[in-house]
Amino acid sequence: MIGQPYDLAGKRVYVAGHRGMVGSAIVRRVGLEGCEVLTASRAELDLKNQAAVRAWFAANRPDAVFLAAAKVGGILANDSFPADFLYDNLIIEANIIEAAHVQDVEKLLFLGSSCIYPKFAPQPITEDALLTGPLEPTNEWYAIAKIAGIKLAQAYRRQHGRDFISAMPTNLYGPGDNYDLAGGHVLPALIRKAHEAKLAGAAAIEIWGTGTPRREFLHVDDLADACVFLMRRYSGESHVNAGSGEDIAIADLAQLVCDVVGFEGAIQRDTSKPDGTPRKLMSGDKLAGMGWQPRIGLREGIAGAYRDFLDQSVTKRGL
Ligand code: GDP
Repeated sequence: MIGQPYDLAGKRVYVAGHRGMVGSAIVRRVGLEGCEVLTASRAELDLKNQAAVRAWFAANRPDAVFLAAAKVGGILANDSFPADFLYDNLIIEANIIEAAHVQDVEKLLFLGSSCIYPKFAPQPITEDALLTGPLEPTNEWYAIAKIAGIKLAQAYRRQHGRDFISAMPTNLYGPGDNYDLAGGHVLPALIRKAHEAKLAGAAAIEIWGTGTPRREFLHVDDLADACVFLMRRYSGESHVNAGSGEDIAIADLAQLVCDVVGFEGAIQRDTSKPDGTPRKLMSGDKLAGMGWQPRIGLREGIAGAYRDFLDQSVTKRGL
């Protein structure tokens, strides 16, 4: 459903999670809309504290909210810290959505993830595949919290007439990514592995699993653009997928990253590590039907992400 555009110019816009990869991309993008961007650091506002969140909303009175705050991590982190992934995400989204309702926020966009969909959902995955089958066990904690977030936004819409919407991004990458090998996702991990192997003159890098799972990747700046597009143009109960429309096998992705980074050694597989879901390609038809398209190709996006990785490394070493 596309109604009258919701103009962000002149509005007070709160980006929750502005230090994260998604939140910081939204801050960069929303800055072009002529609005006043509100953020709160972790020291200023503990999003897990309901009273603090309510008080912050009462004091700062945002007109619109991008809810990008979440505890996120890769396949191993999800599997290792189930309580954190479920509890933290449930409490953060519940606190913000309720506070937004109490404070009469005009519009809220909740961000989820493609892992909300059943493990064996028909591909490309359309929005209506939600809750049609069992989830991928390695990330069901995170997925269940995100499904609850979608349902919260819908419930406040139905019961209280709130203009709360949800977007479900596919696997994201870009500036501000987490390059930690144990906790991060595949693309930043591959960038780091290829870079370090190149510097060390190593013969090979190791990838987790069989290399056959397929994943779709979207640059976070494209996602931020999609979020602003949806905030302005979309008002409906169903969540909306945000993807690139193309997927790639992990082994091919590893090769592409090695090409971009300039590492010419071999790629070995560590099959003691999990593969996760075999394929995760979302249908972007709904968003495309509204007139939105991604702009950043995978090779170009990885090259930019590699530059960001190098910048982060320099900053960390204090050079
Ligand atoms: P997922 O999309 O939730 O499964 O999250 P990930 O981005 O962590 O993993 C995607 C796929 O990449 C899985 O099949 C992983 O086994 C595979 N993979 C290969 N090498 C790595 C690596 O170094 N780190 C991570 N996180 N995944 C890897």
